[in-house]
Amino acid sequence: MSDVFQQALAEALPLLQEVQKGIKSAPKASQTALKRLRKAATTRPAAAVQPLPPPPATEWTWELLEKAILGCVKCPNLVASRTQVVFGVGNRSAELMFIGEAPGAEEDTQGEPFVGKSGQLITKIIEAMGFTRDDIFIANVMKCRPDMPGEESGNRKPKGEEMATCLPWLREQVRLVKPRAMVALGATAAEGLLGETRLIRDIRGTWLEFEGIPVMVTYHPAYLLRNQTITEKRKVWEDMLLVLKKLGRKITPKQERFFTTAAQ
Ligand code: URA
Repeated sequence: MSDVFQQALAEALPLLQEVQKGIKSAPKASQTALKRLRKAATTRPAAAVQPLPPPPATEWTWELLEKAILGCVKCPNLVASRTQVVFGVGNRSAELMFIGEAPGAEEDTQGEPFVGKSGQLITKIIEAMGFTRDDIFIANVMKCRPDMPGEESGNRKPKGEEMATCLPWLREQVRLVKPRAMVALGATAAEGLLGETRLIRDIRGTWLEFEGIPVMVTYHPAYLLRNQTITEKRKVWEDMLLVLKKLGRKITPKQERFFTTAAQ
């Protein structure tokens, strides 16, 4: 079996087991695809049909995971273009995780998620919630900055296949942190993390789930920087109030009132 196929199997098997256990819903498959699979299975000589290998037995520790993620070479184009892998930062036993889509230029340079303009805003939001950046764990779906061939600057949205390739790393980080709640920042993070393609305005303010952990999807800070109206700020803040309630945090009257009057 080729290395690539081995790798694909290793990644697909845990997911299929989750489907079997009912943790994840089954992906759609057409009758035509099923027929093609049956035909391939029956036309191959019996000796060529190998039993599926067991799922990877790696018991991840932070040390092993960090080593694996920092040395990841799954996407050759991103390996070639990245300054460094952006692993994630913060409390490795946090009760709350914030998830973005991918490192930008600043994050790629500094090796830390959310350190650019969006990062400054998300830090303010975290502090308004009564936390510091060190209290929570911040990571991205993608650990490498999406490459920009031929461009000196700027950022691009990660592709679906890039996020699917990288998601197993985030899944292992979530399994180690075991947060009580997560916040997915923006539509791309929601898509990469949850396979969600609905608009943020249709899913924010409601609880979704990743591996049984409640996930609140809200607008990306970059959206807020483009739309600095009190109504948009209040929407994100209301999502954060729901997160605080989920964590059983006491909310002060001042926190309740944030972004209800134009002065804030
Ligand atoms: N945007 C993201 O989604 N992640 C970062 O780390 C920075 C900006």
